[in-house]
Amino acid sequence: MVLELSSDKKTWIRQPIIVVLGHVDHGKTTLLDKIRGTAVAKKEPGEITQHVGASVVPASVLNKITEPLKKYFPKLVIEIPGLLFIDTPGHELFSNLRRRGGSVADMAILVVDVVEGFQPQTIEALNILKEKRVPFIVAANKIDRLEGWKAFPDTPFLESVKRQSPRTISILEERIYQLVGKLYEHGFESERFDRVKDFRRTVAIVPISAKTGEGISELLALIAGLAQQFMKKKLVTSEDAARGVVLEVKEEQGLGTTIDVIIYDGVLSKNDLFVVVGKNGPIVTRVRSLLMPRPLQDMRMHEGRFVQVDLVTAATGVKISAPGLEDALAGSPFYVIPSEDRIQEFTRMVQEEVSQIRFKGESDGVVLKADTLGTLEALLEALRRENIPVKLADVGHVTRNDVLEAAIVSKSKPEYGVILAFNVKILPEAEELRARENIPVFKHNIIYQLLEEYLKWFKEFKERERLRQVESLVRPGKIRIIPGAVFRRSEPVIVGVEVLGGRIRPNYPLMTEDGRNIGLIMQIRDRDNVLKEALVGQQVAISIRGKAMVGRHIDEGDILYTDIPSEHVKYWLTTFSNELSNDEKLVLKEIIDIKRKSDPLYGMVFQQM
Ligand code: GDP
Repeated sequence: MVLELSSDKKTWIRQPIIVVLGHVDHGKTTLLDKIRGTAVAKKEPGEITQHVGASVVPASVLNKITEPLKKYFPKLVIEIPGLLFIDTPGHELFSNLRRRGGSVADMAILVVDVVEGFQPQTIEALNILKEKRVPFIVAANKIDRLEGWKAFPDTPFLESVKRQSPRTISILEERIYQLVGKLYEHGFESERFDRVKDFRRTVAIVPISAKTGEGISELLALIAGLAQQFMKKKLVTSEDAARGVVLEVKEEQGLGTTIDVIIYDGVLSKNDLFVVVGKNGPIVTRVRSLLMPRPLQDMRMHEGRFVQVDLVTAATGVKISAPGLEDALAGSPFYVIPSEDRIQEFTRMVQEEVSQIRFKGESDGVVLKADTLGTLEALLEALRRENIPVKLADVGHVTRNDVLEAAIVSKSKPEYGVILAFNVKILPEAEELRARENIPVFKHNIIYQLLEEYLKWFKEFKERERLRQVESLVRPGKIRIIPGAVFRRSEPVIVGVEVLGGRIRPNYPLMTEDGRNIGLIMQIRDRDNVLKEALVGQQVAISIRGKAMVGRHIDEGDILYTDIPSEHVKYWLTTFSNELSNDEKLVLKEIIDIKRKSDPLYGMVFQQM
């Protein structure tokens, strides 16, 4: 660690915090294993690479593995103390690296299987990175699976590619080109890393194989290079009170509830007073012990997996044991409180920060429950992107009260009267009520799948709703009373008609050619069959309920139209215009012409200003 003496406080550049994201099976875990393996194999004696929840690639290792790259990048000199990789890949843990308005992660590696290309979680990761403004590079993984690829284990990509056949190289180029296209669709310029001119504008794509190790040195060199070139200011930290984020809350044998914290700023010591967010509000307590993983070679029986330390400095991953952490929430901010008189200031600060994520609102919306603050926030953001309102958002299992909230919403907005449960249980008494009230619940432990399942249901619901609405509208219809086919003159009128255009159905109102309403169709018959509708070209008998009499108000040979209410016409002209056949559209036009003679505003749609 580079400690510099400034005016009064020591400051230093910390390790950038790196996360690995990407679609399932694209090689995130394999890549992290490879990086860890490289760090362990090449580290200097005594250097620690293992943190809690994270691994460090020290500067000494970066120097060694970038040595063969010097001929390509002569200016590359490692100035940062190393890279801190978060050990668990994927969105869920990444979500817990939350920080007001952004992420604790300084940079990300987006892993894409070069053969499979973009997949749903690749896109989800991209959206999250965009939203959190986390710079990233793309690792185009599994190049060893490209047709004809000859593996040269642990060599730089630029060396390995020189020894491939022209055909294999062109296959690789084709794949990279496809990634460039996909990234462009999502608003990013990108290019193979060795052709990038301006790294601030262009996302670098590094072809790698997490399995053979090809390209790993370039990947690490690039991250180090970009971090020290573009985010040095952000990486400066000092002796101040530590700040971090709770990555996980864990029960440890002999220690009780502990929190794994990523410290991104300052110094943390034993006995420090700190605040984190708990299920029932802020928790203020003191560090009892700071724990780091016991180095592998020291692993002895009965000694436990951790060693105590007195002090840690950013950036680091550390386990904290302290009284009263039982209700702590993953994804919570972690702040050391510099002195006791500032407790209130700090508790208020975390409370305010979290009230954006855990809330109960007034308006109709879905009920959202998640296992951590981070996943809750990620889901909230994802729902916001889809314009889905949220009524209640909280951490914890689904309770009876949550079901009650959803049931209230479901009365007025059934499409939002649902519960989304991320990685949490439905408590038994809640389940009982849920089943009784028939409240849909969507459960998953993958963010995008939870969302996808609900959105699918939502769309189907809306479609059913739409169809119901269309069904409730009177459709255009034009009929003629067939001469000689009057079976009853009044109460009810029964006549034979031919459908000249559109369609008629029972309960449709009818009008004459000059716009006079003559009553409702009661029944439509074709000999002995009662029909639900009659279409253009059909000849049927209809009964009409109303005051009309044949011979006085209507007569043989008369043309009649469906008397469509003005409100329905507005729908036909706007929302549901695609639901009408051409034939129906022609009849509608005639109906509008007739009605506007007496009501110029009939069916008029006024644009809202
Ligand atoms: P994750 O779900 O993204 O963490 O993916 P994993 O790291 O678990 O990898 C999924 C599968 O792909 C495993 O069977 C890995 O062995 C394999 N895999 C990962 N990286 C590579 C690679 O570079 N080349 C090849 N051939 N297989 C790989």
